[in-house]
Amino acid sequence: MLDLDEALGRLLRSVTPFAADTAESISTFDARGRVLAAELRSLIDVPPADNTAMDGYALRCADVPAAGVSLPVSQRIAAGAVASPLQPGTAARIFTGAPVPAGADAVVMQEQCAALDGGAVRIDAVPQSGQWIRRRGEDVQAGAVVLPRGARLTPQALGLAASVGSATLTVARRPRVALFSTGDELVMPGDPLPSGAIYNSNRYTLRALIESLGCECTDVGIVPDRLDATRDALRRAALEHDVIVTSGGVSVGEEDHIRPAVEAEGRIDLWQLAIKPGKPLAFGEVRRGASTDARGAYFIGLPGNPVSSFVTFLLVVRPLLLHLQGVGEVTPRGLPMRADFDIAQPDRRREFLRVRLNAAGGLDLFANQSSGVLTSAVWGDGLVDNPIGATIRAGDTVRYLSFTELLS
Ligand code: AMP
Ligand code: MG
Repeated sequence: MLDLDEALGRLLRSVTPFAADTAESISTFDARGRVLAAELRSLIDVPPADNTAMDGYALRCADVPAAGVSLPVSQRIAAGAVASPLQPGTAARIFTGAPVPAGADAVVMQEQCAALDGGAVRIDAVPQSGQWIRRRGEDVQAGAVVLPRGARLTPQALGLAASVGSATLTVARRPRVALFSTGDELVMPGDPLPSGAIYNSNRYTLRALIESLGCECTDVGIVPDRLDATRDALRRAALEHDVIVTSGGVSVGEEDHIRPAVEAEGRIDLWQLAIKPGKPLAFGEVRRGASTDARGAYFIGLPGNPVSSFVTFLLVVRPLLLHLQGVGEVTPRGLPMRADFDIAQPDRRREFLRVRLNAAGGLDLFANQSSGVLTSAVWGDGLVDNPIGATIRAGDTVRYLSFTELLS
């Protein structure tokens, strides 16, 4: 059996990220989930000018040595307005986001002031120099790299890019992924369920996972358990896709045609990964058209059991799809957490247990860890990465991988 990290290392070494000249420029509005192909530098300071964080009065601290001082109000500055320099011995009425006038060194919030008749204000607190002033460039300075190449564009990253004025972003092109399921027992939801059949759930899970990683997914559907049909589907998919993902049929049973089909159309390594769930995993390449030298489509064959295909997707396919797009750090961060459960039996494989955070700050274990029980993956909010041969006693610190990270 092959170690997961070893398998992942091999796989990532054999996958070449997209070349820089295939990057595309798209609207920042539409860039959610994509990967930045060139670092983003700011040409401006953010904020572009000192501005106030409060509604109140801008003034000079030197003019308010003690609480209760009254100052004439010399100007009114709303957000978006242009301020005149502050005349000494006066205050400026000012509203959140408005520029602080030159010469003012503090803002006093309006709750600590009293407007007086005749256009003056009484300041009821002694200001500290700089208070409530958001300094020019305190978020981003002109020339700084705001997002590095390889950054994934989260909603907050899009906001940051917009804050420096970027209407478009240079991103890696979307990987084109073909997905198909194998298995003559599979029928589609919406169709009747004959005896011996089950509904195809992997098609739904995997397609959603692929799309959530910034990829285009072509859903090829269910391929019959026949060698010729499988070869045909692979050959066609390779023409227009970067990656082919299949579920089921990767064991070495008589009805498992993935291996001979990929072998005939390219090359395949069939791995017995020392992980649970998800032992059989196939990785290879499918030739594109007649040419034998050009790069083919990457092939990943996931196991058929719904939890196995879900978990192996997160652990293996996710890193591959991110790596293709130029993301540097593609493996999830494990967090040390307290187990509130026992695993008494050591296992020969590294186990990824479906767990859930509880209110006491520990992790609970889903009772049925079978690779066919998809309920576990919905109930859970993450996985415990339990090393080969390790037992767990309640109170032990374990390595937790959150779905929040794995599914983003
Ligand atoms: P296989 O890897 O083809 O031997 O399948 C292993 C198990 O997963 C079998 O019980 C299959 O019925 C089940 N399975 C395979 N493909 C799917 C799918 N797309 N949706 C749900 N279950 C599946
Ligand atoms: Mg099968």
